[in-house]
Amino acid sequence: MLAAPGVRGLQPYVPGKPIAELERELGISGSIKLASNENPLGPPAASLRAIEAELPQLALYPDGSGFELKKALASRLGVDPAWLTLGNGSNELLVLLAEVFLAPGRSAVIAEHAFLVYLLAVQATSARAFVVPALPATHTKQPLGHDLDAMRARIDDSTRLVYIANPNNPTGSCIGGLELHDFMDSVPDNVIVVVDEAYAEYVVDPAWSSAVGWVQAFPNLVVTRTFSKIYGLAGLRVGYAVCQGVIADLLNRVRQPFNVNSLGQAAALAALDADDHVQRSRQVNVSGRRQLADGLQQMGCTVLPSEGNFVLAKIPGSAAACYEGLLRAGVIVRPVANYGLPDYLRITVGLASQNQRLLDSMALLLNGVSPPARGAPA
Ligand SMILES: *Cc1c(COP(=O)(O)O)cnc(C)c1O
Repeated sequence: MLAAPGVRGLQPYVPGKPIAELERELGISGSIKLASNENPLGPPAASLRAIEAELPQLALYPDGSGFELKKALASRLGVDPAWLTLGNGSNELLVLLAEVFLAPGRSAVIAEHAFLVYLLAVQATSARAFVVPALPATHTKQPLGHDLDAMRARIDDSTRLVYIANPNNPTGSCIGGLELHDFMDSVPDNVIVVVDEAYAEYVVDPAWSSAVGWVQAFPNLVVTRTFSKIYGLAGLRVGYAVCQGVIADLLNRVRQPFNVNSLGQAAALAALDADDHVQRSRQVNVSGRRQLADGLQQMGCTVLPSEGNFVLAKIPGSAAACYEGLLRAGVIVRPVANYGLPDYLRITVGLASQNQRLLDSMALLLNGVSPPARGAPA
C-alpha cells in the first residue's frame, strides 16, 4: 500500500445529498433539503451586491492576506488582525491545525458524536485519535454531549490537540461558559484546544459564552468560526480562526497563499454589516426549531435540546427507512449512523413551510403511509 497509514483507514466525509442528485435519481422536482445546516433565508443581499462588484477583477489573484476582511473581523471581535487566520471554510482551518500540530506518534482527543471532520483531520496525519465516550443520552443538560472531565483525563504526553464543538453538530449540545473555562484552566499549556463555534450566532442559552474573549488569557486556545451557517455563504467557503499570533503564524506557513477566493472575501466582508439578516435568521431559527421539536415529539420522536440550526431526533422505528421514505417524498434530511447514531436523523431548521412539509411527510411515514412524491414547492 502506497498511502500513509492514517490515510488508508479514512472513510470519506459524506455530505448531505444535493437536491439536483436526488431529483436526477428519482425523476422528481420541487424537493427540499434540510440536510446541511444551510441558512434557509439564503445569503444577505449586501453580499450578492459585493460579489457583483468584484466580478470584473476575477482575473486577479485574491488578496492573500485577507486584509480588509481581517480588519473588519478584528474590530468586531476586539482582537488584533494578526490573531486572525482565514480559511477555505472553517473546515480548512480544522485540517491545518492537525497538520501543524500532529504527526505519527502524537495524538488528539475528540468526543464521540462530535463533528466528523475532526476525526478525519487527525487520522490523515497518521496521529492517534482518542475518541472519548459522550455523556449519556439521559444527561439532563447535555444529552450525548462532550464529557469534558473524561476528555481531560484522556490527555497524555502524546496529546497535542483537543477538538471541542460548542455547540456540537450533530447533537446540538452546548457547553456552558464556566464549564469550558474550567476545562481550559485544567489543560496543560502544551496542548492546543480548538473550540469550534460554527453555530455561535445561533446560540440563545445564556449559560454559553464564546471562547473568543479568552484567547488573550490562553495562548493554547484556537477558536474557529464560519460564514457558512448564519451568514448564508456556505457555497463560497469562508471561515476564520482566532488565536494568538504564534499559532496564527504557524497556520500561515501551511495554508495555501490564496486559500480564500476574492468573491468569498468580498461577500463575507459585506455580510458582517448585515445585522438585520443575522437577526432575522436567528428568529426564523428559534421559531422553526420549536416547530420541528414540537411536531417531532408529537409523533413519538425524542428530540435533543439544540443550540444550532438543526435538531437531532431519535426516530421510533427505523431511522434509515424514514430517511429513505423522506427522500422519495422529496425531503432530504441527514442520516447520522456514521456518527454512531443509527437511530437518529438530523434535520436542519428550514422555513416554516419547509418544516411543515417535513413534519407532514414524516407523520405519514411513521403511520406506514407513503407520502406523495411531490409536496407544495417551498
Ligand atoms: C458546518 C460546520 C463547520 C464548518 O463548515 P465550513 O463551511 O467549512 O466553515 C464546522 N464545524 C461544525 C461543527 C459544523 O457543523
